[in-house]
Amino acid sequence: MEDFIPYGTQKIDDNEIEEVVKTLKSGWLTSGPKVKEFEDALCGYIGCKYAVAVNSGTSALDMAVKSLDLPAGSEVITTPFTFVADSNLTEKTKAIIYVDYAGQPCRINEIKKIAEEHCLFLIEDACHAVGAEYNGKKIGNFADMTVLSFHPVKHITTGEGGAILSDNEDLAKKLRMLRNHGIDKAPADRDSWVYDMKDLGRNYRITDIQCTLGVTQLKKIEWSIERRQTIAKRYNEELSKLNWVKIPSTSDSVRHAWHLYTILIENGNREDFFYYMKKNNIGVNLHYIPSYRFSYYRKKFNFFPKDYPVTEKVFSEIITLPMYPSMTEEQVERVINLVKRYK
Ligand SMILES: *Cc1c(COP(=O)(O)O)cnc(C)c1O
Repeated sequence: MEDFIPYGTQKIDDNEIEEVVKTLKSGWLTSGPKVKEFEDALCGYIGCKYAVAVNSGTSALDMAVKSLDLPAGSEVITTPFTFVADSNLTEKTKAIIYVDYAGQPCRINEIKKIAEEHCLFLIEDACHAVGAEYNGKKIGNFADMTVLSFHPVKHITTGEGGAILSDNEDLAKKLRMLRNHGIDKAPADRDSWVYDMKDLGRNYRITDIQCTLGVTQLKKIEWSIERRQTIAKRYNEELSKLNWVKIPSTSDSVRHAWHLYTILIENGNREDFFYYMKKNNIGVNLHYIPSYRFSYYRKKFNFFPKDYPVTEKVFSEIITLPMYPSMTEEQVERVINLVKRYK
């Protein structure tokens, strides 16, 4: 049997490990200079004013919503076709959380128009889309807040980690407090024992160990996206020849970051195709099981799949093929040849 090819994986080089070891020996393990260096590097790359790094993408989403101080009973609109982290919010609409699925930016101008008409806050979940662009501008410069994740399957990793990007100084200040229990001054900023807890926050802090990796990973992001684009182009070239496969469409107004490469298997064969690929040691996956199908949401909100016909159709046909920057040409060709031999 040939080697297993996962659907996605991280790439960490020796020089990055050396940097992490230096931080371990430095005496600053958390809330120190590497956190600020990583936040500054993110701002530099994206071109936004503020970045607040936290311990996961989920924490970043939670804090982004919390920072808006929405009245009890507020509702937030989001998509069911995403990772569960987006849906764990509720009850009168005050905000939209939109997801740049697979790394392709949404139709942001249209979403902005709706938000302006109805006075809604916008939170962009760009966990798939670090480095993606919309009308020539980097994602992270459109919504009130943009959320990133640094989980190992994402573009850059800190093991676990996330960040919130914003141009709004008040929101950034609030996010820094919420990250640290709602306390107004981090220990490093205190010249006495005095501090105040102004809000109910959490411990969502990220360590200097993680941010050291974040800084080194961010240096490779352009290489990583270019590799992903090359792989996507090769998949598109070959798989578009198969009449039972639908390849992903890409808008002309975006730079796609290709976190995921997904295809649609038409004619009801997705299940069978999934196990065919698995049997041949290819780590196919399914992104995502729609949130309304999970027992928690079904019980709590009485959701029914038949109310989401578009998502249901996509869910029944979609499959994720391997896509990561260290994937070799041979591995890409092996996946392509296997898909071709299915019928
Ligand atoms: C990964 C992911 C998250 C959650 O990020 P974590 O760092 O795993 O908490 C949220 N939304 C989307 C779309 C994701 O892909």
